Parts: sequence; C-alpha cells; structure tokens
Amino acid sequence: MLTTVTGLVIAERNYGENDKFIDVLTAEYGVIEICVKGARKIHGKSNSASQLFAYAKFCFSSRNDRYYLNSSELIKVFYGIRLDIKKLALAEYFAEISRYCVTTGQTAKDIMSLFLNSLYFLSEGTRSCEFIKSVFEMRFLSEIGLLPQLIGCRDCYKYEAEEMFFMVDRCCLLCGEHFYGRGFEENYYHIRLSGSVLHTLRFICLAEMKRIFNFRLGNESLAQLNEVTEKYIVSRLNRSFRSLEFYNSVCRPTSAAETDSDENLT
Ligand SMILES: [Zn+2]
Repeated sequence: MLTTVTGLVIAERNYGENDKFIDVLTAEYGVIEICVKGARKIHGKSNSASQLFAYAKFCFSSRNDRYYLNSSELIKVFYGIRLDIKKLALAEYFAEISRYCVTTGQTAKDIMSLFLNSLYFLSEGTRSCEFIKSVFEMRFLSEIGLLPQLIGCRDCYKYEAEEMFFMVDRCCLLCGEHFYGRGFEENYYHIRLSGSVLHTLRFICLAEMKRIFNFRLGNESLAQLNEVTEKYIVSRLNRSFRSLEFYNSVCRPTSAAETDSDENLT
C-alpha cells in the first residue's frame, strides 16, 4: 500500500553504495525515516526531492517496518541556506532539535509551520540568524509543552514591574520585589529582562504562528533575547547540541543590517 505525505527532509544518511535514508518531518506522522533506493546515482530518481531541506511530496510503501520511497515531487528548495555556512549551521541545529524532540507517529503541524517559516526567512535573508534562532527556540519549546510561565511574577502575578527577572532554571518570572525578597541574585540563570525583551518573549510564545516573525528588535535587546532563549532551551532539554556548538563557532557578531533600532512590535 502506498502512502503520500508532504514533508521536509531534515537529515540524510548514506546507506550501501547507492542508497540513503532520509528523515522527513511531516505534519501527520512526526519524523519518519524513508529509504531512498538509488538516491546517490547521478541520475537517481528523487535526487532533488530527497536532498537536505527539500520540501516535497513523498509517496512511499511500507515493508518489514521500513518505508521505501516510491516517487517524490519537489515543492520547494531553500537555496539561500546552502550559500551561507551560518544559515546552514542554524538550519541543521533546528533539524537536530526536531529529531530529538519529535517522535514518529506524533502530529507536528505547528512545528512543521515553524520550521518552514524559519527556513523561508533564513533563505530570503529578510531576518537575521540571531532573530530566527530565538523565535524558533522559544516557539518550539512552547509547541512541545515547555512554555515558561510568562504572564507575570510567579508570586504576585504582576504583569510588569520596574524590574522583572526571568528564572531560566525555574521557568518563571519574578518581579524585583520578590526576586530580592527571596534572596536571589543575578547570575547565569537569573536574568534581569528589559521591557522589550519580556514583551518579545510573550509575543513569540503566545501570538498566532503566522505573526511570530513580524517584529523588530534593536541589537542590544536581540542579544539579550538570544542569551535567554539559548539558555532556556539547553536547560529545558537538559543537553546541548553538536550543531548548536558548531553554529556558535561560526557566528560572528550580529550584523546591524537586518535589525532596526526601533523596538516596536507590530
Ligand atoms: Zn512579585
């Protein structure tokens, strides 16, 4: 029996002389592994649709608990990613997180939208890598049920205060009064947030998926947002990722080209 599914290739592994396995992120079945026979022959069928970060329609059969590609039809390739080592490294980081957290059989419609939108903005270059990385990290965690408590101070529910602290290790906010009142100090996990970063975190986690890339943030705030989201994802998933280390090793300081000094959310 043949099954047809639309999905995004998020990993590929060579197998034997001419074959390979691809991991495909799908809305209906989570991440599935498909064997592509003859994929590495020069004129192999399905070459373009089975390459990394191809978005395509896959038709496959199932034998002995394994899926075999029958045919495929390319929908989109994000060419801009392949021309830039930093963008490629970031896309591979998103792929590694997804393979780690999304299992076969679970539905992943929103994660799929998040991934495709992130690749679109990366490829087009209309948002910086730093911006896309933070949006992906925070929204991904929200989608898998690891949303931090961002509504207000954990103790008094204050929505805004002169000082607000994000407690990475406790997944919550504390206002200055309760932060100091409980004897906490600023450190690696206890970060005093600027008002715009707090607003942005709420926006990324809670706004409609189609709107979450629609904001601008100044360089200083973006740097703090990056600090918060990376610490939070590493802390919540309780591990680092080789692709994240690689991404950080190729990162240069933030380019001002794609960020505004205006800090208004739209
Ligand atoms: Zn409080």
